[in-house]
Amino acid sequence: MTSQPDIPLFDLPYGPEEEEAVRRVLESKWLTLGPVTEEFEAAFAAYVGSKHAVAVCNGTAALHLALAVVGTGPEDEVIVPSLTFVATANAVLYCGAAPVFADITGEHDLTILPGEIERKITDRTKAILVMHYGGYACDMARIMETAERHKLFVMEDAAHAPGAVCAMPQASCPTEARGPWSVVHGPRRCGSLGNLGCFSFFSNKNLATGEGGMVVTNDGELAARLRTLRSHGMTTLTWQRHQGHAFSYDVTQLGYNYRPSEITSALGLAQLRKLEGFNASRRRLTRVYHQRLAEVPGVTLPFVGREAESACHILPVLLPESADRAKVMAGLREDGIQTSIHYPPIHQFSFYREHVLREPVHLPLTESVAQRELTLPLFPTMTEEQVERVVERLRARLVG
Ligand SMILES: *Cc1c(COP(=O)(O)O)cnc(C)c1O
Repeated sequence: MTSQPDIPLFDLPYGPEEEEAVRRVLESKWLTLGPVTEEFEAAFAAYVGSKHAVAVCNGTAALHLALAVVGTGPEDEVIVPSLTFVATANAVLYCGAAPVFADITGEHDLTILPGEIERKITDRTKAILVMHYGGYACDMARIMETAERHKLFVMEDAAHAPGAVCAMPQASCPTEARGPWSVVHGPRRCGSLGNLGCFSFFSNKNLATGEGGMVVTNDGELAARLRTLRSHGMTTLTWQRHQGHAFSYDVTQLGYNYRPSEITSALGLAQLRKLEGFNASRRRLTRVYHQRLAEVPGVTLPFVGREAESACHILPVLLPESADRAKVMAGLREDGIQTSIHYPPIHQFSFYREHVLREPVHLPLTESVAQRELTLPLFPTMTEEQVERVVERLRARLVG
């Protein structure tokens, strides 16, 4: 039996509000897609600053639908980062399309490099699917400019980034995807900038419902198609038939069952009310971490100084090249501190090497950063004393 760590990587910040929200759904006796989900969608759309939000059963389904709804298919390529969770690229494969991996910006910014996107565009490129690593926004102004010039769709994997802000001094965005893009000025929330934004509410995310996800868009037509695809391609919902608003339905295309449940939507509403407060705690703790870690020799701090704009989903550090990461992690585990790695690069997984990539892919920055990255504990209820302890133990484990 392994004992519980004293300081876990993540802790679920649930309270009586979540219990009450679930109890009310159980009493209503309507458990799947219905009024609570609609309320969650409206609240989430307003929070992110998008016109429409469509709730789904998980973040991977959100990514799949965002690509499917614009017609991504076997002839297409989609440019993605490799330093992300495998679901980002798997969603491209679900559409029969080819993921094309692009390198990251550097040691201080682990998000996709806009110049790499530009280099990897071919006449088969359909879309750019970016990921706001750790809750820090990608360079969306340049990415949107590239997309507009090449007439590409932009999807944001914002699984790390609910509440994160993207500065956007000035950029052209699909505020109405059908019409010409319009120039936006000033800060916007991550997920609301591209054609479609995707969120995950998995247990360890900033907004956690166990399983759950959301797609946001400003395009009403895309939102309507997302709703149809989410529920078998059917033209009416069980909820509408239950209420007597509809009696039958047609199936107009191949859809999926990606519906959320009312229970997870109720948890989502309760968590959304707490998100700003929790993100503020994450930012404060990240600042403390960054201050203390600056005194640990050889450790590099990605995104240092960008705490204010971030959702601070995780706390990534880069160990010195000379360090034995596995040994450091094992040592910290002995000290009761749980750590993790974000991420083993997707292009190096055996499935991708052997069955997906037609030729070997080399991404020097992604590969070197991925070997040195270590994720330290971070959660809203963590104390500054716990942060001090993690940094002190890391320093000790790096020495010997
Ligand atoms: C969690 C996560 C996903 C997948 O979300 P699920 O809800 O687990 O399906 C996708 N991309 C990134 C970057 C994630 O962190």
